[in-house]
Amino acid sequence: MAQFRLGDVIDDWCIKCRRLTNHSIVSLLGDQPAKVRCRTCYSDHDYRHEQQPPSKKDLKKADLFGEVLAKIDPAAPPKKHP
Ligand SMILES: [Zn+2]
Repeated sequence: MAQFRLGDVIDDWCIKCRRLTNHSIVSLLGDQPAKVRCRTCYSDHDYRHEQQPPSKKDLKKADLFGEVLAKIDPAAPPKKHP
């Protein structure tokens, strides 16, 4: 079994980059990575075990999109400019 060490580069999900990127291990909890640093944007965060967190933003976006669609009334006559 692989032993993690500080400074090792592992894949993890970066919230800022919003994708899987290379991360350096900056802190260990037992033999598991506790904190990692994204090697693309250099932000530190807890190790997420490569899991993408559910995005509330995406849900909100979907809601807004639905609202916009609801506002469009196909029965309304097109406005004419004088
Ligand atoms: Zn990043």
